[in-house]
Amino acid sequence: MLTTRFASATDTGNLRPQNEDSAYCDAQFFVVADGMGGHNAGEIASAIACTKAAEATRDGRVGSLEDLARFVTDANAAIFDAATTTTGQHGMGTTITALAIFDGPTPTVGVANVGDSRTYLLRGGQLQQVSVDHSYVQELIVQGYVSKEEARTHPQRNIVTRALGIDRAVNVDTFLINSAPGDRFMLCSDGLVDEIDDATIETIMRTTSESTDCARALVTAAKAAGGRDNITVVVVDLITAPVDTSTSPLVPSVSGDLVGGLVVLALFALLVVVGVWRSARDGYSVVFEDDTASANVVVLNGPPDGVWWFDPSIKEVSPLTRSQLLDAFVADIERVRTFDSLEDARRFVDGIAKAVGSG
Ligand code: MN
Repeated sequence: MLTTRFASATDTGNLRPQNEDSAYCDAQFFVVADGMGGHNAGEIASAIACTKAAEATRDGRVGSLEDLARFVTDANAAIFDAATTTTGQHGMGTTITALAIFDGPTPTVGVANVGDSRTYLLRGGQLQQVSVDHSYVQELIVQGYVSKEEARTHPQRNIVTRALGIDRAVNVDTFLINSAPGDRFMLCSDGLVDEIDDATIETIMRTTSESTDCARALVTAAKAAGGRDNITVVVVDLITAPVDTSTSPLVPSVSGDLVGGLVVLALFALLVVVGVWRSARDGYSVVFEDDTASANVVVLNGPPDGVWWFDPSIKEVSPLTRSQLLDAFVADIERVRTFDSLEDARRFVDGIAKAVGSG
């Protein structure tokens, strides 16, 4: 049984007067929409898409790829109706990308998109874009006129060729992905990808373990890189649902064969635990000791969240405290940096110490 850990983050950015992006998150269903249109109409269009997502979740209507596509066409109809009947909302529209987790013997994930809001997948440390943009520059890429990298900075990069609310009917693209625990999906508006490239997105997604920190770090990076548009990010981590042991029945009797089997199982479990213990002690991370202003910067042996019940151990405590550091350094540390060796971790801490003049 598959479940999710997820988080969203959004920011108006540095230039826009308001945030016209909207996001919706439920345990199994996620949406990012990027609205367009004058007089707050863009905000209304993207909000309608998310309201429709909440309705679809409540009614249990998103169980298959067909359901997912139908949700998008329903949202399109609702926005189109509002745009044609409400003064001040004429011509409003929104892009959308949506992701749904489908229950079943093989866990699958459905992705849909209209416009240039994207869904990415990080699997085995590699980032891949799942959705394909409906945009002018995407057509130029397909025709071979520009490279993906050139498209990122192309002056016409924000022209979308499909959006919700513009026509009574809309063409929805859908993708079905066989999925597994460990997969990390990310939905975003173009305000993220216009500012930071896929390599940067991959690094942040690979090195930030908690979904909340990951969503926040992506938005922070895009804002720091310019933040010329609204930025919205949803991060979805697929995890195995914890087994509820409180209701599992007791084994009434144990036969000889079963005992042999249990011994083998116990040995196997021991090997797994030893393996996990080793990986819990692999590598080093640099974090703040706690959430307070007086918290010291510490080097941990192992990942910051530990592995299973093995908590990381504090290897070194630096005299640096959170209140001494500039916001940029605090943000850098809170993004959770991991290192292969203690020397590398020390070098990172020393670099910050030199920058604040105490190293
Ligand atoms: Mn945008």
